[in-house]
Amino acid sequence: MLPGHLKQPGHILIDPSVLNQKVARRILSRLANVPWSLYSDPEQQVRDIDPGGSYVLYLKHYKGRFMRFCPGTKHYQCCGYRIIHMGENCPLNCSYCILKAYFQDSVLKVWANQDDLFRELEQQFSPGSRLIRAGTGEFTDSLALESITGYSRDLVAFLSEYPGVCLELKSKIVDLTWMDRVSDPRRVLPAWSVNSPEIIRTQEQGTASLENRLRAARACADQGFRVCLHFDPIIHYPGWKQGYAKTVEVISDYLAPEEIAYLSLGSFRFMPQLEKIIFRKHPGASYIFNEFITGLDGKKRLLLPLRLEQFGFITDQLRKFGLDRQIYLCMESSYVWEKILGCTPKDLGGLDNHLLKLSFEL
Ligand code: SF4
Repeated sequence: MLPGHLKQPGHILIDPSVLNQKVARRILSRLANVPWSLYSDPEQQVRDIDPGGSYVLYLKHYKGRFMRFCPGTKHYQCCGYRIIHMGENCPLNCSYCILKAYFQDSVLKVWANQDDLFRELEQQFSPGSRLIRAGTGEFTDSLALESITGYSRDLVAFLSEYPGVCLELKSKIVDLTWMDRVSDPRRVLPAWSVNSPEIIRTQEQGTASLENRLRAARACADQGFRVCLHFDPIIHYPGWKQGYAKTVEVISDYLAPEEIAYLSLGSFRFMPQLEKIIFRKHPGASYIFNEFITGLDGKKRLLLPLRLEQFGFITDQLRKFGLDRQIYLCMESSYVWEKILGCTPKDLGGLDNHLLKLSFEL
């Protein structure tokens, strides 16, 4: 029985070299009635398979580097997050999802050669190496496929040997099945992206409601975890003030400020090619008609005065709730930082350093 957010794939395609990997075996046993085939013919294209109105799940032998820095930009203040790359694309369907423009195709892929992943991580996390803040929620949702892959469960179990690594699991759904494999709750940060209830309802198809995300965050806090929250993307739409005020109110119903390790604010920004995809696939997404400029990184973003107004309003609400040092801005300039938070990342010793300290409670 799959969770509500996850439709059953119509076909599973497998690279022969990963067929006996634990994660591939687990997926095949959990989806025992889904047809599968080996991807052994170089001419065969994933798109030639007819998944019968559903989608193809591709268990791939990934040959690239699993661990990498977040693809930030030198023009804005980046948080220095290290990505543990475990797959590509997402079964959820947020209208604004940047992955739709980022990857060449929308095939849902799981990097099934976990042995290679763990070998690489062992090298990266050698004893005595510096503290690392890492996460899996950059090129996919950290937990959307968890019920069939158990990937995060494997990862947190592996990381119990490495107290110098703090892992963020970022999601928009609720799955806490990884929790019982965590040996030290201080080294895992369950994280949820949050938005106004209206944006969640109309633009984040398949995701959990705000209440359910926060109920799950509460369950984590009860087990000794601190959580992270990400207001991202903040969208400018009629009624946004009431919407985001409501979000802060719901957060305060479920969590105390000290249970939040850090919280980011990120304005909606997108690669120009995403615009056409949104027009075509999400005709109700009227926020795309807002006032955008092209930023220094080539992405479009809301005009500065509008961004400042939104950041300022939400930050005020969060400060009233009791957050301060934990708030940071995602991909903004020092000028915006100064205006909104009254300091720059440099004042904090660098944003990556600041977030590392918050992650490890230093
Ligand atoms: S949850 Fe994240 S990765 Fe998945 S569709 Fe939404 S924005 Fe994209």
